[in-house]
Amino acid sequence: MIEESVVELPAIPFLDLVTTHAELEEALVDVFRSALKGAAFVGGPQVENFEREFAAFCGSGHAVGVASGTDALRFALMAAGVQPGDAVVTVPNTFIATTEAISQAGAQPEFVDIDERTYTMDPQRLRSYLEQECTRDSSGRAISRRSRRPVRAVVPVHLYGLMADMDPILELAAGHGLQVVEDACQAHGAEYFSQQEQRWRSAGSMGRAAAFSFYPGKNLGACGEAGAVTTADDRIAWHCRMLRDHGQSKKYFHDIEGYNGRLDAIQAGILRVKLGRLEEWNNQRRECARRYNALLASAHDLVVAPPAPARATSVYHLYVIRVRGRDRLQAELARAGISTQIHYPTPLHLQKAYADLGYRAGDFPVAESVAAEILSLPMYPGLTPSQQDRVVSRVIAALSPLDAHGGSLALLSRS
Ligand SMILES: *Cc1c(COP(=O)(O)O)cnc(C)c1O
Repeated sequence: MIEESVVELPAIPFLDLVTTHAELEEALVDVFRSALKGAAFVGGPQVENFEREFAAFCGSGHAVGVASGTDALRFALMAAGVQPGDAVVTVPNTFIATTEAISQAGAQPEFVDIDERTYTMDPQRLRSYLEQECTRDSSGRAISRRSRRPVRAVVPVHLYGLMADMDPILELAAGHGLQVVEDACQAHGAEYFSQQEQRWRSAGSMGRAAAFSFYPGKNLGACGEAGAVTTADDRIAWHCRMLRDHGQSKKYFHDIEGYNGRLDAIQAGILRVKLGRLEEWNNQRRECARRYNALLASAHDLVVAPPAPARATSVYHLYVIRVRGRDRLQAELARAGISTQIHYPTPLHLQKAYADLGYRAGDFPVAESVAAEILSLPMYPGLTPSQQDRVVSRVIAALSPLDAHGGSLALLSRS
């Protein structure tokens, strides 16, 4: 009798931040050495050079380096004119930093639902929010019926690396006098084909301003915390430079009260090294996504693959599938040593932190049903074809009622 050998396969991490940094170790350590030599730790030429290079990468006039993506969003909103007492519209299926920044700018977040196919802001819902859930004041400004606040801005979130449908959002915003601030924290290098302009535009170049995060796990990540605002508007760039540095127009001359929200020189130097690799890494992510798509094609009745609309190219910050029985699938994968995550399990309007906004379950049905079924599979440059084979065969085995191992059918019918 042949004993079935039980081979312990190595675990597949959700994200591998070790290998990419090991490859760059010399260049990264050099950044630290030269910072020590000049004792230049905050601001200075590294920051200015990074800002110039990142602005060029985004096809935007300016980039302003700040301490985090959350600071970038808050400064961008404030510089775009969001004031205490305003309302700012965004989507419920995003990281809480989006709405934290809105609240920290003194405004109240309000939500519109997402497009079921792209998981990004549904322009039709934005239209009906503006036309049916708002009244107009004498100057024609939209006033939210729910909060009686003037609606000052809209924050589309380029979720998972895919840009929101910007043409109709920009058109609606222009028609209602709203500022558009892109949350591009997951979309470094993503592109969108503007029908309006008949050309491709990069994330961070379409709104009045945009916010990027360089948190380590993002497509472009620092070795610590960092972020940037991009904008074509000189005045907004100047305003963000003041906000990040205690409102100073020059040293110890404070035109406004600001924040301590500057970018470290060491992080800027690290980001310059890594920016040189970003296009290659984004291409590797796209290649991984193509492989996942091909492997999952046979299970298209069980697994919804990520959207790939012709109007945009995703940079696959995350590879998110949609399935019935998500929690069981995640547990099955964990048992097989495959790490996954959920981005995000609870939409913001149902979070305890926002209980006082008065939303209820059922208010944003698309965001709610999507949140119950999404699962982010391992995705990073360097994920290998054989790792992807293993992930997908486990996914299909766990979901298929005809699973030869017998476990899945029982598993699926147990709940
Ligand atoms: C990461 C992220 C942020 C916040 O960035 P931090 O650098 O962590 O402050 C904001 N919005 C979205 C969608 C993000 O993914």
